[in-house]
Amino acid sequence: MKRQFAVIGLGRFGGSVCCALIEQGVEVLAIDQCEAKVNQYRDVVTHAVVADSTDEQALRHLGIRNFEHVIVAIGDNIQASILTTLILDELGVEHITVKAQNDYHEKVLVKIGAERIVHPERDMGARIAHHLMSKNVLDYLEVSDKYSIIEMFAGSKMHAKTLVELNVRASFGCNVMAIKRGAEMIVSPKADQLIQQDDLLIVLGADEDIKRFEQMFD
Ligand code: ATP
Ligand code: ATP
Ligand code: CA
Repeated sequence: MKRQFAVIGLGRFGGSVCCALIEQGVEVLAIDQCEAKVNQYRDVVTHAVVADSTDEQALRHLGIRNFEHVIVAIGDNIQASILTTLILDELGVEHITVKAQNDYHEKVLVKIGAERIVHPERDMGARIAHHLMSKNVLDYLEVSDKYSIIEMFAGSKMHAKTLVELNVRASFGCNVMAIKRGAEMIVSPKADQLIQQDDLLIVLGADEDIKRFEQMFD
């Protein structure tokens, strides 16, 4: 049997989650109270239904607790998002991921049993800001409140140098975990690894160290 996911709220975020899940080959039940939204996704997902997710009976009838993972993608109506999450938790849904609108919303969601909370606008903003700050930084991922991982092009300043010569770990406290070179992937590079201009480095470090590293080789 295929894995089953349900997505509640078919705004841009929820809709995009639906499409990505379908691409991953799982079954997706899409739920929205707005009929036009449901029609928009009817041909994309496995099942699409019009329902108000704050109506416990409606969710019960959909057999929501049999779904492996439910994603609550209601953004602006925080009250509806909270109530929906509460009902899902009470109905015994095992894995619940909720899109948070702000930090207060997140605090409430944590208390009522959301297993995972996502902040797509905030996180995407942070990723894009890193890209804007340094022309070589392609992507940024926050690992904790102090550590991050960046994807950064080596650029001309690193070209034809080894990791020892650049002394990345000793001078910047950053670790090069992997190097993407075209289709090739060099995982856990050694100290004598030569860097080329077009290499994409995957670097883990404390935020301030990463920042110094970015600036030095920009
Ligand atoms: P976007 O991702 O486009 O920014 P958003 O996250 O801001 O969207 P909203 O537009 O607030 O989200 O809502 C997403 C969807 O959730 C809307 O299509 C709305 O109809 C649906 N929705 C809101 N409340 C409920 C509810 N109680 N039951 C079912 N669907 C709901
Ligand atoms: P150290 O004692 O300074 O940590 P080391 O014992 O790890 O060095 P080597 O592995 O030979 O010794 O590396 C020498 C230097 O090369 C490191 O200090 C570091 O600056 C750099 N280096 C080697 N590998 C990496 C890596 N994967 N990422 C970042 N820097 C590296
Ligand atoms: Ca929005």
